[in-house]
Amino acid sequence: MKIHEYQARDLLAEAGVPVPAGRMVQTIDEAELAAKELLHAGHDQVVIKAQVHAGGRGKAGFVKLVGSADEAHEAAKFMLSNRMVSPQTGAEGLEVKRLLVAAAVDIAKEYYLAITIDRTNNTSTMIGSAEGGVEIEAVAEKNPEAIHKMPMHPLLGLEPFQARQLAFKLGFKGKQVGQAVNIMLRLAKLFLDTDASLAEINPLIVTPPTDEYPNGQVLAIDAKFTFDDNALFRHKNIAEMFDPSEENQSELRANQFGLSYVALDGNIGCLVNGAGLAMSTMDIIKLHGGEPANFLDVGGSATEEAVTEAFRIILSDDRVQGVMVNIFGGIMQCDKIARAIVSSAKEVGFKVPLVVRLEGTNVEEARRILEDARREIPSMTTATDLADAAKKVCAAVTVTA
Ligand code: GDP
Ligand code: MG
Repeated sequence: MKIHEYQARDLLAEAGVPVPAGRMVQTIDEAELAAKELLHAGHDQVVIKAQVHAGGRGKAGFVKLVGSADEAHEAAKFMLSNRMVSPQTGAEGLEVKRLLVAAAVDIAKEYYLAITIDRTNNTSTMIGSAEGGVEIEAVAEKNPEAIHKMPMHPLLGLEPFQARQLAFKLGFKGKQVGQAVNIMLRLAKLFLDTDASLAEINPLIVTPPTDEYPNGQVLAIDAKFTFDDNALFRHKNIAEMFDPSEENQSELRANQFGLSYVALDGNIGCLVNGAGLAMSTMDIIKLHGGEPANFLDVGGSATEEAVTEAFRIILSDDRVQGVMVNIFGGIMQCDKIARAIVSSAKEVGFKVPLVVRLEGTNVEEARRILEDARREIPSMTTATDLADAAKKVCAAVTVTA
């Protein structure tokens, strides 16, 4: 599960990581008011930031520094009325419904700091780079030696000596070292305590020197967290941060029915049971020149109602020009699928070609049900095996590849 930056900043602040003050708002007026308050409190500048589950906001114009309430109004208006398009969103971009209005800070240098599950080392690893603020993938590609990794102990987490080593490698000087170490240790503890799978501060910054902080101040000004869904039951406060409006609506609906559904870019809807079979179905569609519109595993114990819902989801995608059903009935009974096909045909109608391949438990019964319904579902053809089904469905849609 992903959370918004403003929520991540709250978690960081509670964990003792210094974060500039800010507030989440949902309207232009609230943004203006929040900015006014920060300016009155003595901050010279305020930063307005779109809250969406994607990065690259800075370059897309969805992170704006403003110096007055009017400018805050304009920035908020722009962000709440335009979709945010960045390399992380896809061409259609994301609607912005929430903004963070925060005290802006002066930046002397930007760093990157993150923790991720590191499968090669069988542990979590802290990653730091002095090349912060930019896409870390670009740094990893062009300048891999600028990325420093510190594998964490599975039980003890990040140890203080490791944090000090990393702070020195990143080039922190004087009083910055202690501040950076403190942030690293607290971030590592937060990561383990919350069963996170990703924690990222990009950028972690150092402010220019002042009388109070002659070496500057180390602060987190952007934060991103992802949590292990399977551990959410023991983190009620985090589970409550879930924002359903940021999720793909079809995926959300599928979830409620216990279906594993992932939307893809192609035009062939797939309804399959079993993740392995769903993968091979997608492969074989591609092998025959087609593009799957989704991954969908109805699982072994889906009810007729859930399968009907699966058809509803697939057929509500206007890009879908053909549907391929590929069921190997083990625990799943083929007749259940056949009945769901018939009831979906009645309810939603198969306006696009439907190719059905069924094998396994109760297949005879299933074939009889489909045979009886043939007149009601003229767009349906049956296939003898997987390759035959893929050929037929690919022939029925516009092949773009
Ligand atoms: P992202 O582009 O979605 O990762 O959004 P960030 O929150 O990381 O902001 C992008 C960039 O905007 C940062 O790398 C900074 O250079 C700049 N920025 C963000 N907040 C501030 C701020 O308070 N002060 C200044 N001077 N720059 C900021
Ligand atoms: Mg960032």
